[in-house]
Amino acid sequence: MAGASVAAAAVARAGTKEGALAPPASLDDAGRPWFLKTRRFVQTNLNEQDPATYDPAPWVDYWQRVRAQGVIVNAGGIVAFYPSRFPWHHRALALGERDLFGEILAAARKAGLTVLARMDSTRTYEDVFRDHPDWYARDARGEPFKAGDLYTVCVNGPWVRECVPAILREIAGRYRPDGFTDNSWSGLGQGRVCYCGHCRAAFRASSAMDLPARVDWDDPAYRAWVRWSYARRTEIWDAYNRVAHEAGGGDCHWLGMGQGDPSQMCADFRHPTAIWSRSPIVMLDWQTRRAGEGFQTNGFAGRTIHGVLGWDRLVPESTALYLGPTRPMFRKASKPEPEVRLWAACGMAAGIQPWWHHLGARHDDRRQLRTAERLSRWHAENEAYLVDRRPIAAVGVVWSEANIDWYGRGESALRVMAPFTGAAEALGLHRIPWRAVHADHVPRDGPELDVLVLPNLAAMSDAQCRAVRRFAEAGGGVVASGEASLYDEEGRRRADFALADLLGAHATGETRGSREGPAASPWVRWEGHSYLRVAAGAGRPPVLEGFEETDLLPFGGRVEVVRAEAGASVALTLVPDSPQSPPENVWMREPRTEIPGLVLHAAAGRGRVAYLPADVDRCFGRDRIPDHGRLIANLVRWASRRPMPLSVEGPGLLDVHLYRQGNRLVLHVVNLTNPAAFRPYATELYPVGPLSVRVAKPADLRPVRARRLVGGGEAACIVEGGWIRFELASVLDHEVLVVE
Ligand SMILES: [Zn+2]
Repeated sequence: MAGASVAAAAVARAGTKEGALAPPASLDDAGRPWFLKTRRFVQTNLNEQDPATYDPAPWVDYWQRVRAQGVIVNAGGIVAFYPSRFPWHHRALALGERDLFGEILAAARKAGLTVLARMDSTRTYEDVFRDHPDWYARDARGEPFKAGDLYTVCVNGPWVRECVPAILREIAGRYRPDGFTDNSWSGLGQGRVCYCGHCRAAFRASSAMDLPARVDWDDPAYRAWVRWSYARRTEIWDAYNRVAHEAGGGDCHWLGMGQGDPSQMCADFRHPTAIWSRSPIVMLDWQTRRAGEGFQTNGFAGRTIHGVLGWDRLVPESTALYLGPTRPMFRKASKPEPEVRLWAACGMAAGIQPWWHHLGARHDDRRQLRTAERLSRWHAENEAYLVDRRPIAAVGVVWSEANIDWYGRGESALRVMAPFTGAAEALGLHRIPWRAVHADHVPRDGPELDVLVLPNLAAMSDAQCRAVRRFAEAGGGVVASGEASLYDEEGRRRADFALADLLGAHATGETRGSREGPAASPWVRWEGHSYLRVAAGAGRPPVLEGFEETDLLPFGGRVEVVRAEAGASVALTLVPDSPQSPPENVWMREPRTEIPGLVLHAAAGRGRVAYLPADVDRCFGRDRIPDHGRLIANLVRWASRRPMPLSVEGPGLLDVHLYRQGNRLVLHVVNLTNPAAFRPYATELYPVGPLSVRVAKPADLRPVRARRLVGGGEAACIVEGGWIRFELASVLDHEVLVVE
């Protein structure tokens, strides 16, 4: 697609749902099933002693205070919170004759709330294990897999095939919940092979092979086992849903649970696109940021899921109100409100709905029962602006399960997710709106985008490569790195990059860069004291803006050694490793090489392509070195033939998201300026502002004001030269602007 029309097409598509100019007082939920209108959940995650003391009144009050529309209540699985008729279904220690699940369900129904029955279906206590030893997963020596004092059942055994469906049928038939969630439904992941008799027989019947002896991505048996294991989880999903529909009605869905990082889904055999596409509502168990992460990673989860499913589906996210779950974890202590608010605000900005998660019904630390109240009430009052909208972002960051599994090969955190996160964080820090794009969806999403980023997207099918080539031939820009397109979708190495003509570079089979110390994995060792040098004689291309006073950038990563085509220009070259100490020894043994670190290719008749043989995106995901982030942002701006559709100027660490909703634009600005930006726990909020905002004007809109949904008040819009401009006086934790 030719440059100028791309954004117009994106805006036109985004605006296909016409809305009224006046703000809607509430959403029209008439006729919507529960999974399209339950936007705030509360979960009181019961323990075995809760039935002795559970007092409904404070929780009914809490549901009202946080404007909950749904509750998630423990029903069965490891522990039954109702009088199950099955002798092997362990009843909560303090349950007695009480039907606590039934009581809470009745109270929630009376309050008009959706009720999801919470299960945890792949572990049991020892007594069940003693009675039914053949239900359980076994290691190669025949020992059962345990998680703490619980025993892990096998997904191919009678517990999963017969007992869980029987429990689902009992609960759905007796109580008619709206649906089910399940905590650990998928069982053992890619790192642990079950050698029980059921698995041995089923795998042999399916593949005519014995189970793999160990985790080995080169072993045909292990590779077959991985595919077979994925298929079994999808089969379980479908089987549980058949039971839920039969016993509980057509809208009674079994929803499992999944994570916000697709590589973690894959590690658990929860194939992200297969699972999400089966989910009428995505129950996201992504409770907090991980060690070293910023709050904005919650937005990565929202972008990735909506990027696959579109933006109409709800994605409620279990949000920990207890301290953790990063270590150390304290399940009964309260998390500081600013830490919860910033995480949840980044989620809401990316189309995630709140689901407030408490461990246990009784709280001696009562602060956590106040944490969510203000933000949740704000969400209820403004929810009409937070759904039914489409993102305006000209940059797509591409990912796939094939790259995670068949190229990542158990090291996806280093090989695949660090480059993805690095590219995404670089765009976010530079306030460039972006979307996550599945590699299979480039033909679908490409017409709305100006630039595709392929962060070490090594495993690509021929069809995926054709789609990227077509995107470039239509005028789209491409920023690729590392081994992009060097492997097929099975992870088999090709002789050259499938996209060599696009990248303007050819693989030589050699790698260079930094190698530090011995390590189990060669990928861990790609760090050290190397640099990238501005290539002599090339002039300073605009991608090096901001680096005018240096000829050298820090590097410390891995370089795919390539031969650049004559028509491409090499903007950076590798300066190989040299000693870091002692100071007398710090001098470059080889200050100049011809090894390309950055190749720019602007061929006639197609979009600009920047290719990084030096894996700067992976380094940024790992090290967060500012020059790497700036370089990635510069490359994306250069590859796009037009300015980004959004610019926010002013100091601060911000997470920005722009949407079109009917006849208005909705802009989220989350202020992450905080000494705890990359390390828990945030305990205070620090306002920033004023900020100058500039948004590309959709052809069919002429807005006059930007209303502030958090801070209140409005700013006048100035419309000139195809842009809408306004000032944002200040932002405390987050602001949502309705431009209309
Ligand atoms: Zn098994």
